[in-house]
Amino acid sequence: MIIPDWERFVGDMGEIFEDVRGFNEGELATYIPQLSRVPPDSWAMSVCTIDGQRKSWGDSLNPFCLQSVSKPFTYALVHDDIGPEALHAHVGQEPSGRLFNDISLDHNKKPHNPLINAGAIVVASLLKNKTPLADRFDFMIHACRKFVGSGYIGFNNSVFLSERETADRNYALSYYMREHNVFPKDLNLQDTLDLYFQICSIETNCDSLAVMAATLANGGVNPMNGERVVNNRACRDTLSLMYSCGMYDWSGQFAFHVGLPAKSGVSGDMIIVIPNVMGIALYSPRLDKLGNTVRGVKFAEQLVQKYNFHNYDSL
Ligand code: GLN
Repeated sequence: MIIPDWERFVGDMGEIFEDVRGFNEGELATYIPQLSRVPPDSWAMSVCTIDGQRKSWGDSLNPFCLQSVSKPFTYALVHDDIGPEALHAHVGQEPSGRLFNDISLDHNKKPHNPLINAGAIVVASLLKNKTPLADRFDFMIHACRKFVGSGYIGFNNSVFLSERETADRNYALSYYMREHNVFPKDLNLQDTLDLYFQICSIETNCDSLAVMAATLANGGVNPMNGERVVNNRACRDTLSLMYSCGMYDWSGQFAFHVGLPAKSGVSGDMIIVIPNVMGIALYSPRLDKLGNTVRGVKFAEQLVQKYNFHNYDSL
């Protein structure tokens, strides 16, 4: 077993979980009205190792929308489908140094990376884009089901409608990108944005999200059923981007202090991947100024104080 003393590990994780519960600051996202209506003090955590040891704490079966935590998975699937060259003809690999929804492109007039809104909208435009919109959404939600195995994947239509209704920034970003020929030819902009909002509105819970993260920790193979979801290279590139760009404008600090690939979303969810060891999912909807879950970030910092999981701890 990858974690030999599982009982002790679970005890330590539970202690950190309770400790971090005390961090009550931060605000819920309000720019998508539906996201501001969730219980603000929810707190959940789940772990899943690459050999299927699992444990959950708190409200781990409460559903939430993936929001930006969908971005690494959409990226991995498009990468697996069309390959890195075709994909990166449209989007870079550099941290943006800006907020997640900033209207800016890099010096090649491409989005900085696939894990901020601009880049993720472009990645959505490449997802099975020769097929009808319904098939594209089907492909994505079925792929999410492969990432979770037998866990929960749903769709929150109210969040989708609420987000589409209030998406001026994402429309502005998309028109700006279309002006600079970022998108593939024959783009249907409304379809692309609808697909992007729908992917953000895919729903899961911490217990299942930990399996999605563990699939990335396991090189693209779901550890619960042994099914390959994406190829190794797609998984490797996804983790590289999560390491450098996964936590918005806190990514550099996170890479420095925590040293693990991670991704957060504006619903308050977050995944941390410890390659070849485990995936961790966290959910607490109070966000800091940059849009990261306050408790999730605190948890990550305490985790690497307790265990040598930082990428360079082994030196
Ligand atoms: N759906 C959100 C948006 O496009 C995703 C952003 C996020 O989770 N940071 O604004």
